[in-house]
Amino acid sequence: MTQINEPAVGRRRFLTGMTGALAAGSMIQVSAENGALAAQSAKLPKPGEFPVRVIASDNGLEATRRAYDLIQQGADVLDACIAGVNIVEDDPNDMTVGYGGLPNEDGVVELDAAVMHGPTHRAGSVAALQKIKNPSKVAKLVMEQTDHVLLVGEGALKFARAHGFKEEDLLTEKARKIWLYWRQKRDQDDDWIEPPDELLDPEVKKYFKRPTGTIHCAAIDARGDISCTTTTSGLAFKLAGRVGDSPIVGAGLYVDNAVGSCGSTGRGEANLLNLSSSTAVGLMRAGRSPKDAGLEMLRRIAANTVPRLCDKDGRPNYDLTFYLIAKNGDYAAVSLWGPAKFAITDAKGTRHEASVSLYERAAK
Ligand code: ASP
Repeated sequence: MTQINEPAVGRRRFLTGMTGALAAGSMIQVSAENGALAAQSAKLPKPGEFPVRVIASDNGLEATRRAYDLIQQGADVLDACIAGVNIVEDDPNDMTVGYGGLPNEDGVVELDAAVMHGPTHRAGSVAALQKIKNPSKVAKLVMEQTDHVLLVGEGALKFARAHGFKEEDLLTEKARKIWLYWRQKRDQDDDWIEPPDELLDPEVKKYFKRPTGTIHCAAIDARGDISCTTTTSGLAFKLAGRVGDSPIVGAGLYVDNAVGSCGSTGRGEANLLNLSSSTAVGLMRAGRSPKDAGLEMLRRIAANTVPRLCDKDGRPNYDLTFYLIAKNGDYAAVSLWGPAKFAITDAKGTRHEASVSLYERAAK
C-alpha cells in the first residue's frame, strides 16, 4: 500500500506544485498586463477630453459621419455606431450588408450582426436571421431585453417579430440575378445551363469573383467610452445556416472599455479559429499599439492558415482586416492584403485613410 500510495502522493504534490507554478506564471502575466494598463491609464486624457473618433470599414464613410454627429449631440456611443451602420443595412447597393445583401447558396438572404457596449461590458448578437433588414437593431435588443447574448435563425426571427420588426423580402432583383448566375455556372454536371455572355446584365458581370464585405463601425466618445458593431450578409452563397465571425463576440468584434476595441471584416472562419478580436484587445492591454496588435494577429492567423488556403508563397489567399481603437483614441486598420483603406470621422473631418497591410498585391 505504502509503495503504491507514496508515488501517488508525490504525484499529487507535484501536480499541486505545478498548478501553483502555473497559477503564479499566469499571475505574473496578468500583473504585467495590468502594469502595462496602469502605465497607459496614467497617460490618458481626462474624461470629457478624449478625442471623439469613429472608424469603419471602407464602405462606412457615411456611417462614421452619422455616428460622429450623433456622439457630438450627446448620443450613447453604441447607439451612434448602430445608427451609422443602419445607413448601409438599408442601402440596396451595398450587396454585403442588410437589404440587398447577397444570399446563401439557396438564394435566401441570411444576416449576422453583433453589438458590444464598452461602458457596461454587454453584448448582443443575431445569426442567420432572415427577413429583417436591420439585424444590428435586433442585436441591440438581444443585449438589452434578454438575458442572452446570441439568438440564431428562427428564434432570432421570432424575437424580432415580437419586438415589432417588419418582415420583408431582402433579396433584390440585382442580388437574385447575381445568385442565379453563380448557381448556373457552378457545376457543368447539373441541369442549370449557363447563359451566353451577351445575355448577362453588365451589373452581374461585376460579381463574377465571389464577393466579400461587411460593415464594422467602432467609436470612442469624449468620456473615453468605446463601443462597436458589425453587420453583414456574410459570405456570399454560403451554405444555409453558416454563421461567420461577425456575430461571435470575441472573434468578429470585442470591446474592453479600459483598453480599446477590435472588429473585423474578411474571412470569418479565420477569426473564429483564432478568436481574433478579443486576442487583439488582449495584446493592446499588454501594451501594444492598435497597429502592432492588429499586425501581430494577422501574423498569427497567417501562420495558422492551412495550405489549401495559401498561395504558392505560403501566404493566405484570402483577405482579412482589423479595425482597432485604443483607450487613448489611437487607432489603426490593418489588412492581410493591401492596398486597402478604411473610413474615419474625427475632428479632422470625414475621409478614407490607408490601412496598414502585411502583404501588398502585385500591381496589375
Ligand atoms: N466576415 C464576414 C463573414 O465571414 C464576411 C466579410 O467580412 O466579408 O461572414
